[in-house]
Amino acid sequence: MNADASGSPPSRRKSVLFCPECHFESPLSDGWLVVSDGDERTIVCPECGHVADHRAERATPTPQHAD
Ligand SMILES: [Zn+2]
Repeated sequence: MNADASGSPPSRRKSVLFCPECHFESPLSDGWLVVSDGDERTIVCPECGHVADHRAERATPTPQHAD
């Protein structure tokens, strides 16, 4: 066995998102239309407009500390 780069390593892979409608394929951060609306983020396919992902983004868990 020689450690050559003759294959794709399992790690070090960008999370590629696929569009089930038109088979558009691209890393989430490169190519997709990311529509941020308040706490929500919608991933839209730039090819056909299909909504591939929709999730609520909660960056900070609201540090409300009632003393
Ligand atoms: Zn598409």
